[in-house]
Amino acid sequence: MIGVLALQGGFDAHLKTLRALGEEAREVRTVADLDGLDGLVIPGGESTTMTLGIAREGLAEPLREAIRGGLPVLGTCAGLIMLDREHLDVMDIVARRNAFGRQVRSFEADLDFPDLDAPVHAVFIRAPWIAEHGPGVEVLAAVDGHPVAAREGDIMVLSFHPEISGETRLHEAFLERVRAARYARRASATSRP
Ligand code: GLN
Repeated sequence: MIGVLALQGGFDAHLKTLRALGEEAREVRTVADLDGLDGLVIPGGESTTMTLGIAREGLAEPLREAIRGGLPVLGTCAGLIMLDREHLDVMDIVARRNAFGRQVRSFEADLDFPDLDAPVHAVFIRAPWIAEHGPGVEVLAAVDGHPVAAREGDIMVLSFHPEISGETRLHEAFLERVRAARYARRASATSRP
């Protein structure tokens, strides 16, 4: 079961993409909704509104705990911002909001990813970029030298919106991590005396 943070923003397209890939997915609005998840998506939206929603629901600490405890996460756009050092502080990055400029700087680009044969068609909407990152962060793609996709352990972040362009390969990459983590958890549960 994959959770999609649904306090605000573009959660619906992520739910549809995950379900189209054969995963069960549900909206996460409260602390109780985090129970029993194998993975979490934090969608795009508006990061200030999302921060307020997280605070209102008392979700900051439970989210932090779950992610630090190994819950695989995919963060897109505002979701990337939520994971950085200045927000939930679970990924060693600093995001710069609206880094390409505001509304006028919404654009599309084809990006090469290390593990993918064909480029990803990426839609950027008032997107952030990664202004700083620590040594444990692997940059997967960049625009004009600015990282727009990265991974650290089981956390993957994208500045753009694969869920609205029909691109599923990055959700699939996330789901591979989810399955590996699920498998590791089951293996350690059954090997317990
Ligand atoms: N500009 C938004 C913010 O800073 C993010 C945009 C998006 O998620 N598409 O919160």
